[in-house]
Amino acid sequence: MHKSGFVNIVGNPNVGKSTLMNDLVGERISIITSKSQTTRHRIMGIVNGEDFQIIYSDTPGVLKPNYKLQSSMLDFSTSALKDADVLLYVTDSIESFDKNQFFLEKVQKTNVPVLLLINKIDLLDEAKLLALVDRWKSVLPKAEIFPISALHKFNIDNVLNRIKELLPEGEPYFDKDALTDKPARFFVNEIIREKILLNYDKEIPYSTEVAVESFKEDDKMIRISAVIFVERDSQKGIIIGKGGASLKKVGSDARKDIEVFFDKKVFLQLFVKVEQDWRNKENKLKGFGYIQN
Ligand code: GDP
Ligand code: MG
Repeated sequence: MHKSGFVNIVGNPNVGKSTLMNDLVGERISIITSKSQTTRHRIMGIVNGEDFQIIYSDTPGVLKPNYKLQSSMLDFSTSALKDADVLLYVTDSIESFDKNQFFLEKVQKTNVPVLLLINKIDLLDEAKLLALVDRWKSVLPKAEIFPISALHKFNIDNVLNRIKELLPEGEPYFDKDALTDKPARFFVNEIIREKILLNYDKEIPYSTEVAVESFKEDDKMIRISAVIFVERDSQKGIIIGKGGASLKKVGSDARKDIEVFFDKKVFLQLFVKVEQDWRNKENKLKGFGYIQN
């Protein structure tokens, strides 16, 4: 008997969804930083076993839409509720209960089995954890609760075993060699975006988008050129930095990670372009792949 199915990871920003996804998939697929909204797309990771195939999706955190980009990000999270065989609702030991109540209500109504994962329990003592579990039992009575630490890989095995039990019978959806549905360029893009998030403050990372314009691989190295789009001239100056120092740092940080990812030498060229108000332009968002159709 073969089992296969879709396991979708949802929850508020910054609770550890991407960290968990990477534990479950065993490769560094989603980018992870301590800033929220790092994950903008739904990212799939596929795990194959002899008699099963699990297709994980990591979603952007839930947030109330207040501009077009966020609104299409929320669509990814809402659609993740409908097309799952198992839903992993991730919360952590820090966030409050009333956050994004409207999304929790949707989770409560779904017929999909829900595993409620209380993450970051490394930050809690036992009494607090027990109290938290009790609270969640009343908030989501149908869900099965697993206290975990994604960062320390604690209790992840039990989550995985339960997922396998819940997985429906069926043939594999994807070629069993496939690791993910995203092309190589996508990972380059995500790694560069991660470095921008780590190297700049405030609104800068949220005003930028990255596009890989060329990706050429030979047997010795990969040559990549990518553009960082910003919304205003002033942001372009900040991205580049004094004497180009900031952009250089982003480039060399990203290059190192890309080299590890592909296990190959990489030559990375970065350019900065102003694309006014890209976040509110529907056609631009389509081009960057944020709007599903
Ligand atoms: P996402 O926005 O839900 O995808 O969250 P991320 O996976 O990007 O993680 C957000 C932050 O929480 C990062 O700094 C992680 O290192 C941290 N984090 C994730 N899991 C744990 C955990 O089990 N314990 C602790 N202490 N931190 C964690
Ligand atoms: Mg994430």
